[in-house]
Amino acid sequence: MTTNLIAILKYAYAAPSEEQLEKIRNILCNKFERRDIEIQVEEDPSVGGGFIVSCENFEYDWSDLGRARQLRTEFNNVRTKNIVSDTGKIISMLKEKVDDFELRIYDREVGTVSWVGDGIANIDGIDHAFYGEVIEFDDGTKGMVQDIRDDHIGCILFGNDNTIRQGTRAVRTYQEAGVPVGDAFIGRVIDALGAPLDGLGDIKESGYRAVEKAAPGIIERQSVNEPMETGILSIDTMFPIGRGQRELIIGDRQTGKTSIAIDTIINQKGKDVICIYVAIGQKASTVAKIIQTLRKTGALDYTIVVSSTASEPAPLQYIAPYSGTALAEYFMKEGKDVLIVYDDLSKHAVAYRAISLLLERSPGREAYPGDVFYLHSRLLERASKLSSELGGGSITALPIIETQAGDVSSYIPTNVISITDGQIFLESDLFFEGMRPAVNVGLSVSRVGSAAQTKAMKKAAGSIRVDLAQYREMAVFTQFSSDLDETTKKQLAHGKVLMELLKQPLEHPLAMHEQVIILVAVGAKRLDSIPVKKIKQYKDKLITFFNTEKSDICEELERSKNLSDQVKRSIIEAVDEFNSREGY
Ligand code: ATP
Ligand code: MG
Repeated sequence: MTTNLIAILKYAYAAPSEEQLEKIRNILCNKFERRDIEIQVEEDPSVGGGFIVSCENFEYDWSDLGRARQLRTEFNNVRTKNIVSDTGKIISMLKEKVDDFELRIYDREVGTVSWVGDGIANIDGIDHAFYGEVIEFDDGTKGMVQDIRDDHIGCILFGNDNTIRQGTRAVRTYQEAGVPVGDAFIGRVIDALGAPLDGLGDIKESGYRAVEKAAPGIIERQSVNEPMETGILSIDTMFPIGRGQRELIIGDRQTGKTSIAIDTIINQKGKDVICIYVAIGQKASTVAKIIQTLRKTGALDYTIVVSSTASEPAPLQYIAPYSGTALAEYFMKEGKDVLIVYDDLSKHAVAYRAISLLLERSPGREAYPGDVFYLHSRLLERASKLSSELGGGSITALPIIETQAGDVSSYIPTNVISITDGQIFLESDLFFEGMRPAVNVGLSVSRVGSAAQTKAMKKAAGSIRVDLAQYREMAVFTQFSSDLDETTKKQLAHGKVLMELLKQPLEHPLAMHEQVIILVAVGAKRLDSIPVKKIKQYKDKLITFFNTEKSDICEELERSKNLSDQVKRSIIEAVDEFNSREGY
């Protein structure tokens, strides 16, 4: 004998009539596709009025309690979406909601919380949830399904966990976790879920995008062909980055990693690039300082800051880079070029490790879960240059990784090095020697960017990398020898000048033509006789000279993006003119 499927109907004051029961049974029979459904009727004053029918994990809510819940969700929407100071406006909006309110009768899959803590909740009773689905708790908190097991699901919480307790109801929403997107986000500071943090009020969204999306396929892409100029001489000349590339910035703490990313954002002014800076697990004061720099330099006008500071729960730190990427994809799909900085992915991996351990996934090397590689690869694969048919937009990613004592061979650094198209390696020793930015020329590389470098830059940069490498080697050899021959002396002097030229203060990006002029001048050995101490001053003066008195050369370079022999000659002539006039 098969047992009937039991449904429980709860009511408060008036038991349902036979006719109502028959209707309900019909609905259930259709839903579960069987006819042997038995409805047990129970009285429960907490329902308030109307009925709640539950069968297996599904619930039909025709009650006052459900009405109250739905109305509360609507109110919450009004509250969170409108950080408005005008009370009158809020009241009228609420009134509108009450007037238009209509009880929606839908079946929902409901479970109860069996364990909660540290931003994680385990839920019993939900059987059909999918990975990444949004779960809503009775107190209005939302969470995302992160783990699906035989007997329960694990959920990361996007909010406070102190109002969720054992037994709290949790409801499926059938919606993928995502963030609001839209042009109005430009210039704003938001949290990992897209809510404003800058006190400038509501952000008008024009859509909703899932945070986890598959990366564009091979057919949808084209190769990198346009430069993403950082304005930093040592990077643009030797390790050029292209739009759509992923270039890792890696180094110990306090070696200027963030500074390189921020200077790159500052350099995008007027270049029609939208920048997104994702701060993960950093101190709030550091993020505040970065925002201040961006605002001061006018870079915030085309930048979005997504911030999830160290004090925020691990789930929010975990989701932040994906939210930033969802926003970036929105702009890329519109045909725009986007630069996204993840600062930093080491802390992201740590947040993910915390979540995974709490979800009781088995720890592997360095206690990271086995899929920590996939954590970053699925994020960074989303950086791409779309084909012209798809609008030709791009996402350039600058992930940042912090190393311990320069060890690039530990777990997370090697993972991210293998996913990206190159790395800029910053070194503490260089940094303290005063070589800032502290780019280690030997260990840094850019594997695709040179395809996107302008012809002018390619010709001008020439042998600078080799020269520098030679210089460093020779400097070590000749450290203790006193009688050097003329050529060695010359090479050493040239190398010293090169090193000095690559030093660049913060917030002083160089335009492409300025970099080319410097490179041509130093390549023609016009700087070798200048005392090293005076190089910085000389460089600044030379650039001003060109920008004011030789603007035709500058314009020609920017226009043609090429360095013809004739332009090269005129640059050298102008440098000679400047040198003799200034007495160098
Ligand atoms: P953390 O590990 O704390 O995130 P970081 O590697 O991101 O540090 P930054 O915060 O960018 O490093 O820089 C550290 C310090 O070095 C800052 O005070 C910054 O002003 C200084 N600095 C960085 N680059 C330069 C530069 N090119 N010239 C002068 N000072 C610099
Ligand atoms: Mg930093």
